[in-house]
Amino acid sequence: MPELDTEVLVIGGGIVGNALAGLLGSSGIACTIIEAAEETDSDKHKQADPRALAMTVASRRILQSFNLWRQIPADRLGHFRQMHVWDEAGNGSIDFDSADICQSTIGYIIEQTILQAALDALLRYMPSVTIHRGATVKALYWHDDAMTVELDGQTKLRARLVVAADGVHSPARALAGIEYKVHDYQQQAVACVVKTALPHAQIARQRFLMDGPLAFLPMAETHQCGVIWSTTPEYANKLLSMQPDDFNYVLQSAFEYSLGEVQASGPRTSFALKRAQAQRYCRDRFVLIGDAAHSIHPMAGQGANMGLLDAASLAQVLLEARLKNKDIGSMRVLRRYERWRKGENMAMMMVVEGLKHLFENQTGPLPLLRSAGMGFINSKSTLKHWIMRRAMGLTGDLPEIARP
Ligand SMILES: Cc1cc2nc3c(=O)[nH]c(=O)nc-3n(C[C@H](O)[C@H](O)[C@H](O)COP(=O)(O)OP(=O)(O)OC[C@H]3O[C@@H](n4cnc5c(N)ncnc54)[C@H](O)[C@@H]3O)c2cc1C
Repeated sequence: MPELDTEVLVIGGGIVGNALAGLLGSSGIACTIIEAAEETDSDKHKQADPRALAMTVASRRILQSFNLWRQIPADRLGHFRQMHVWDEAGNGSIDFDSADICQSTIGYIIEQTILQAALDALLRYMPSVTIHRGATVKALYWHDDAMTVELDGQTKLRARLVVAADGVHSPARALAGIEYKVHDYQQQAVACVVKTALPHAQIARQRFLMDGPLAFLPMAETHQCGVIWSTTPEYANKLLSMQPDDFNYVLQSAFEYSLGEVQASGPRTSFALKRAQAQRYCRDRFVLIGDAAHSIHPMAGQGANMGLLDAASLAQVLLEARLKNKDIGSMRVLRRYERWRKGENMAMMMVVEGLKHLFENQTGPLPLLRSAGMGFINSKSTLKHWIMRRAMGLTGDLPEIARP
């Protein structure tokens, strides 16, 4: 049998693929990452991606387990202790407060580029992790005991297991012949960072407009928020091409001046929104994690959190299999991960989809029902606390390192 180049080969060094490599590498499993992007210049990257991500307490625990969390500069780590959700068409609202369930925070707000840069820096010095940058996969070959991955430029790498973490479009998933069922929301999310006249007071705010939700996520700086505005593709294009003063005006108006006047302080970028789920999460010696396996609407801020739970669950399954001297690329081992995460991800997708439908229809009698429904949820502390715990990653079938 030819020698292996690595135990686990991860295709895609985004947040989820890197987190898996960190989890496995810190447990002594040799891991190689293949990443298409050439470099990790976070300033350059920021021009293309001004997203601020809401991260759960479960994600913090996962990232803490391999010492990543402490690499995030404290002055770039926002906390949100409360959440206020309201509706354009009716007068319903819901308020969530971490103090109600005896927690100090609901979650954290981190710029996508800061988290990515922290992961890249940590992995660079992890002895059991090797990174090939500027490389993409050309072909996959299956053998009885291993897989060979052929990269552009003819390099071939042999691994016991290949993990596809190469995002929504996942070329690796296509090479493995796994179907990805996609529902196009016909919406775009416009992301940017803004300065606000009033302090955000560590409250995440989301207003449901006719065409989609508009969220202001409180960043570390008291007067800075990450904005995610989901709307029609036509209006998104208009928002992207507006002059700064016009954009600031329509944004603060759409947000009812809840934080006073606003000033966008960087680039604006848009993302097409889709709901998607891979028909299978694994086949022999090949497994999907993160957006390569599923994608959801960003209104609940769960996509990357779900991906980190995939990474932690897969790492747990692989480490347990190794302890029992099982083949980590075998279907028996990989199916355990698939059953576990597919069920959990489907449940989260259904909750987000339900909320989306509830808020989507802003005409007819639904706004009245919605206002009544929001009022009902707001007054029922047991239901509200259950929603909060679930969204914070405090309940559900969690991997060991994510448990309280
Ligand atoms: C507007 C918006 C707001 C969001 N807000 C939140 C939020 O608040 N909270 C949250 O949890 N989630 C949020 N999400 C979702 C979150 O951004 C994604 O779920 C997450 O980034 C997915 O990470 P990933 O590593 O799986 O994939 P990606 O981030 O897509 O990374 C894939 C990596 O694979 C590489 N790659 C691609 N093809 C190849 C190839 N052929 N070979 C090698 N490498 C390849 C890419 O260069 C990239 O580095 C949001 C999404 C959007 C669009």
